[in-house]
Amino acid sequence: MSSTRTPAPVSNFIRAIIDADLARGLHNRIVTRFPPEPNGYLHVGHAKSICLNFGLAEDYQGQCNLRFDDTNPEKESDEYAQSIQEDVRWLGFQWSGDVHWASDYFDALYDFAVELINKGLAYVDDLSAEEMREYRGTLTQAGRNSPYRDRTVAENLDLFARMKAGEYADGAKVLRAKIDMASSNINMRDPAIYRIRRAHHIRTGDAWCIYPMYDYTHCISDALEGITHSICTLEFEDHRPLYDWVLDNLSIACHPRQYEFSRLELHYTITSKRKLLQLVNNQQVSGWDDPRMPTISGMRRRGYTAAGIREFSRRIGVSKSGNSVDMAVMEGAIREDLEAIAPRVVAVIHPLRVTITNFEGAAEREADFHPQHPELGSRVVSFGRELVIEADDFAEVAPPGWKRLSLGGEVRLRHSYVMRCDEAVKDEAGRVVELRCSIDHATLGKNPEGRKVRGVIHFLSCEHALPAEIRLYDRLFTVPAPDADKEVDFCTYLNPRSLTVVPGWVESSVKDAAPETRYQFERLGYFCSDRRDHQPGGKLVFNRTVTLKDSWTKEAGSL
Ligand code: ATP
Ligand code: MG
Repeated sequence: MSSTRTPAPVSNFIRAIIDADLARGLHNRIVTRFPPEPNGYLHVGHAKSICLNFGLAEDYQGQCNLRFDDTNPEKESDEYAQSIQEDVRWLGFQWSGDVHWASDYFDALYDFAVELINKGLAYVDDLSAEEMREYRGTLTQAGRNSPYRDRTVAENLDLFARMKAGEYADGAKVLRAKIDMASSNINMRDPAIYRIRRAHHIRTGDAWCIYPMYDYTHCISDALEGITHSICTLEFEDHRPLYDWVLDNLSIACHPRQYEFSRLELHYTITSKRKLLQLVNNQQVSGWDDPRMPTISGMRRRGYTAAGIREFSRRIGVSKSGNSVDMAVMEGAIREDLEAIAPRVVAVIHPLRVTITNFEGAAEREADFHPQHPELGSRVVSFGRELVIEADDFAEVAPPGWKRLSLGGEVRLRHSYVMRCDEAVKDEAGRVVELRCSIDHATLGKNPEGRKVRGVIHFLSCEHALPAEIRLYDRLFTVPAPDADKEVDFCTYLNPRSLTVVPGWVESSVKDAAPETRYQFERLGYFCSDRRDHQPGGKLVFNRTVTLKDSWTKEAGSL
């Protein structure tokens, strides 16, 4: 729906590096990549990484590859790979050429491992996983060499070939890089680069029973694709020496450089696929695209726009310092995008019945969909004897400063007459169940004579309104950083009131709205017809995307 591209990029340290690299002729064109593992749906943190990598390629007229890091067959699926492609496209980006897969390079990766063995830089180890942990040492204690570390090249070549041929059980052997067990960087203490794992792979099926490790695979994949700037999150900073070691020791001409930036943490939610999967599996949400989820598909279903998410990414910037961001930054960006593009219509979500005692029949008035954007068109606003208004727009006794309806008071009905409340009808429990009101017939599009009416409220004519399911969302968690405390299960902080479903009413102009149509429901917020459950002309379902800022006060004066 929204089509505006994000405005001029904000400078950051990565752009400064690229500018310098281009200026000194190190590259004449930049190549980046976005390298997700297809083990879940993408979340808002990935959106930041996508906007960064694809955004750089766009700004510098370079290219950005989409490369699946598919080296963990047990956790990966085609559903995830498909959803990731859909999300990247929906965000407004297109990768260069075909999708790439780390598994495209399995043969090459194997050959490079043989090269390392031949150079005496890799060996097959028989230590169990537990022994290996023990030999690895700690942050304060150097590791010890494995007793298998000094196997001959010939023996290693033979054992590695037999690992590949399936002669050993899962976990019985690993291929390790031979670096330095005393390194102060634990990642350099002879990391495993191949392990035996009999698992069906989404692309290579059962062709392999050994799989390369991420650190080994990633740098080689980058080099084979001619990536110039390999951008990842800060937890990989300590892996950079390994990235460089692998490439320095192989006969590959290209040596991309790795740069790290801080991960996005969005308050009141979590950005970890593993934890999001837990919410899905435990049915604490309806699925990966539940509108409360910080996934790209969840944000989309809730009604966030791609342009709004790109603008959010631009505003939060890219740096190495903590990137813990308030939800208000996201909501502000979304609101700003929707402000200009969403037609304004009327819905009533907590209805209170009103009978107009001095009106018979029906009346109609034309009203624009947007006060500043007449090009969005107009529709008919119907008036009748039976109305509904928002229950909280009425107070029997007006509190100080009250601008809405009270017993004996007057308000303007949006796009319609001035109405006075003459009587509040109550049930046995004393609750107001209906208002009996009268209108000033002379006030359609005109101010009343001799008095000022300041308040404006919205309403629907019962005869013309359509029932709709309205889904209202609150934060998914009750605390800003639900997974900060490792001792406490983050699910403890799930907000039991994160979803409220109410039967409401909407004006008839939205009857045939397609799924994913966005509106402003005046005074209530921005809403989007649900991608899955809304049926044009049938069951109408709207998700509240975000509430409004107090924009209503500005417009309250319009008739
Ligand atoms: P998760 O922990 O959620 O699985 P991940 O980093 O393992 O995240 P990948 O699929 O490996 O997920 O990530 C693909 C790219 O997205 C990586 O380059 C990674 O650095 C980046 N990324 C992931 N999470 C964030 C985040 N919160 N902020 C910024 N970038 C992120
Ligand atoms: Mg990962």
